[in-house]
Amino acid sequence: MTIQTTGIHHVTAFVRNPQVTADFYAGVLGLRLIKKTINFDAPEVYHLYFGNEAGSPGTIITFFPWENSRKGKVGGGQVGYTTYVVPTDAFDFWKERFVKLNVDFTETARFGEQYLQLEDPDGLLLEIVAREQGTNSQWSFGGVPAEKAIKGFGGAILYSTASAATANTLVNVMGLEKIGEEGGYARFKASGDLGNIIDVNIESMPLGHGGSGTVHHIAWRAKDDIEHAQWRNQVEGSGFLPTPIIDRQYFNAIYFRETGGILFEIATDPPGFARDEDAEHLGEKLMLPAWYEGRRHDIEQLLTPFDIRVLEADK
Ligand code: ZN
Repeated sequence: MTIQTTGIHHVTAFVRNPQVTADFYAGVLGLRLIKKTINFDAPEVYHLYFGNEAGSPGTIITFFPWENSRKGKVGGGQVGYTTYVVPTDAFDFWKERFVKLNVDFTETARFGEQYLQLEDPDGLLLEIVAREQGTNSQWSFGGVPAEKAIKGFGGAILYSTASAATANTLVNVMGLEKIGEEGGYARFKASGDLGNIIDVNIESMPLGHGGSGTVHHIAWRAKDDIEHAQWRNQVEGSGFLPTPIIDRQYFNAIYFRETGGILFEIATDPPGFARDEDAEHLGEKLMLPAWYEGRRHDIEQLLTPFDIRVLEADK
């Protein structure tokens, strides 16, 4: 192993309704919609990206909202919890906010840290932790001022069907360091300051199944295209079968399934979300890659409009 990821680039999940998703991730969580585009493999489905003000790597959660999708089951071979990190003085703000907005949550502790665990409207498992690490978000929305806002990902809990193999891949392929074991989880750390703390179940879990309310894949950061090519070699040299490098418009991607069943992507930091929109106006218009631009009218007819709106309770 010669290269190491600094942490999570993005997490991609399945949901059903774009408005419900926008009302939760922008309305409740205060994230910015930083890109409204389509699933490049299925143009009748949106691909929505939410993150900090710029959609920085380590802050981005993306969704394919598909109204008729079956309900998934969170389980082995998936990201179990997606962990958001907030400033150290914002933990109580979020607790009070969830109470005010009638969002059910439970409070739990792991590795000496307090977590608020909750579900999004489709059942996707999320948690909030407060840490010093990570730059504060510059984005204020509705009832969430920038100084209390989610900074990005703290990390994730991976649910593996082959925990020892997943741990081995995190350390020996992705370059994370194992830093502890507690309460049924092993903890791994990457060198970045966001999306860098990854917990994995020590006892292997039975397979979940994909569908709404589940994570489809977790993407790890590659610094640039040169490092990305090295990543592909490193993954292949470790016995996995990575895809060719795929142009995802805002980053380049390779994918491989690790032995514990979780779909890993490695995504480049550049070019980022300001490549086709002004940074001031990210996410306001439907953006299509050049190869779909000729079909814009038809594609727009297939997509249900939705709004980014402040919740009534925050007005
Ligand atoms: Zn991805």
